[in-house]
Amino acid sequence: MNRFEVITPADLASASQLLAQDGHVAFAGGVDVVDLSKQGIASPTALVNLKGLKELGGIEVRPSGELRLGATAKLSEVAEHPAIRARFTAIAEAAGETATAQIRNLGTVGGNLLQRPRCWYFRNPDVNCLKKGGDTCYAISGLNRYHAILGGGPAFIVHPSNLAPALIAMRASATIVGPGGERTVELEKFFTLPAVDPKRENSLKSGEIITEVIVPASPSSVRSHYLEAREKQSFDWPLVSVAIAIDRAPGAKTVRDARVVMG
Ligand SMILES: Cc1cc2nc3c(=O)[nH]c(=O)nc-3n(C[C@H](O)[C@H](O)[C@H](O)COP(=O)(O)OP(=O)(O)OC[C@H]3O[C@@H](n4cnc5c(N)ncnc54)[C@H](O)[C@@H]3O)c2cc1C
Repeated sequence: MNRFEVITPADLASASQLLAQDGHVAFAGGVDVVDLSKQGIASPTALVNLKGLKELGGIEVRPSGELRLGATAKLSEVAEHPAIRARFTAIAEAAGETATAQIRNLGTVGGNLLQRPRCWYFRNPDVNCLKKGGDTCYAISGLNRYHAILGGGPAFIVHPSNLAPALIAMRASATIVGPGGERTVELEKFFTLPAVDPKRENSLKSGEIITEVIVPASPSSVRSHYLEAREKQSFDWPLVSVAIAIDRAPGAKTVRDARVVMG
């Protein structure tokens, strides 16, 4: 692990300027970024601490019924929030199924969406796989028990985020601030498949920061649910997960709208 400094920027604009510099990496809960540094996969010269930035904090259900999740809101806060549990159930369930109580108390909404894949070839510092600029995805002929079975390739990673399928099922979008100003991206379009660029998993650009995730209000007839199957029942990433949001009026036999997202 190389030496690095930790910088706590005074405001969002300074954070973005710092992150546009080579070797500067954002730090929220730090769960994945510290792991990647210890594994030699990331070699930051500076970690830019996002936790004190007020634009990134908090959880709010607005009078319109829209849900705002600050990017540094903790997974435990999302899992336990009474209004999220009642009206955006799949999101609370996905956060509550993540890792352990200790990790949920550190891990944040933004960090969960931006964590890197768990592929053992990618995480092995001695393997220069396709995702790290090499020319081979070793999962193809190697150990591929936990890799993509649908729509994979040329790298066969799967995205590890619990929150992503639930947020996409609920039509969430991310607000992103960077050197080019502010933009909003539907989460459905935020993630990048290996077929587009095997080295990355999302469309975040240099210096850009996710400030919040917005989930639009949905009619009271919408019900949502998140389910996952995993190998260890104590804590583990899911082998498969599914988030579903269904709009069916009480007593009606037909469904007006359904979104099913598999992880
Ligand atoms: C044992 C274990 C089990 C786990 N099980 C699960 C599981 O079942 N399901 C699951 O989904 N996850 C699981 N995780 C992963 C864990 O939930 C994530 O590592 C965690 O959510 C990352 O959040 P963080 O805030 O610590 O991110 P960090 O490590 O601080 O950041 C992660 C990445 O996001 C970037 N970043 C963070 N916030 C922002 C932002 N706002 N804008 C721009 N860039 C940002 C950082 O630069 C870094 O690249 C597990 C982790 C462990 C160690």
